[in-house]
Amino acid sequence: MSELKLCQGTRCHTYYTKDRLKGVKGSKTYQTRRRSSFYYGDGNFCSMWCWNDWFNDFGDKAIDHFGRLTEPKKLTEENAWRKDYDWRIDDRQNRFFFVNGITKERRSLTEEQYEDNTYNLNTGE
Ligand SMILES: [Zn+2]
Repeated sequence: MSELKLCQGTRCHTYYTKDRLKGVKGSKTYQTRRRSSFYYGDGNFCSMWCWNDWFNDFGDKAIDHFGRLTEPKKLTEENAWRKDYDWRIDDRQNRFFFVNGITKERRSLTEEQYEDNTYNLNTGE
């Protein structure tokens, strides 16, 4: 049996929807949504609004906690390889390739290599 999760939105209970309204006449309350799974924010929020509410309240503190960038990250030539394909090429063996986002160099790729998520040319990011 899977546990129900609560939406982590800080104002989830303030949105007037029928499914949030609980209780009997005279003691009704709007409550935070509770579901077996959510789609937003890595499964923590019932909606984009709730995800945004959380970020507006805590995002700044979270970034400071986990490490705020103080200088730009850099993607070098060695790590700028991306897989791509050209659907206009009929020959499946020549349709797939690596392309370097900085040098624009292309290197051919088999379809199996294209589909293999562990196969890449980057040395680390
Ligand atoms: Zn919510």
